[in-house]
Amino acid sequence: MNTNCTHRIGYGNDIHRLAAGRKLILGGVHVPFELGPVGHSDGDALAHALCDALLGAAALGDIGRHFPDTSPEWHNAPSLTFLQRTRELLDAAGFRILNVDSTISLERPKLAPFIPTMKEKLAEALGITPEQVSIKAKTGEGVDAVGKGEAIRADAVALIEPLA
Ligand code: MG
Repeated sequence: MNTNCTHRIGYGNDIHRLAAGRKLILGGVHVPFELGPVGHSDGDALAHALCDALLGAAALGDIGRHFPDTSPEWHNAPSLTFLQRTRELLDAAGFRILNVDSTISLERPKLAPFIPTMKEKLAEALGITPEQVSIKAKTGEGVDAVGKGEAIRADAVALIEPLA
């Protein structure tokens, strides 16, 4: 991509309803819990928010354009695949990922024990190091759909630069 700016920032978010009988997958990690995200893929809200942040930084559209939820190809798909494909799209467009930062909003369970493994899995999918991946977690303080335990939300930003 011809660009006369150096660094580019992107933002993404995602929300999924929580329901019984679904696995809670976050950053490619299975978090044991009685509820999981409703979705066409595995519902990995963190991976989806990161995809949108990275695509946004490169002005390449959004996750729905590249991985439509009407496509049987993505039914129950592991969302790390979306991140790998997104990285390939950025490669092809001539960008390198500098860092990503994210926040998961979820009332329960506590996510701190799982975050180091999430960072490793996301870094591997994106071809960067775990030190370039930040994941924060917070509750909804009892308000809104997150706070009432009805939904999981993730927000992410990404910084990229053109390949030399
Ligand atoms: Mg999603």
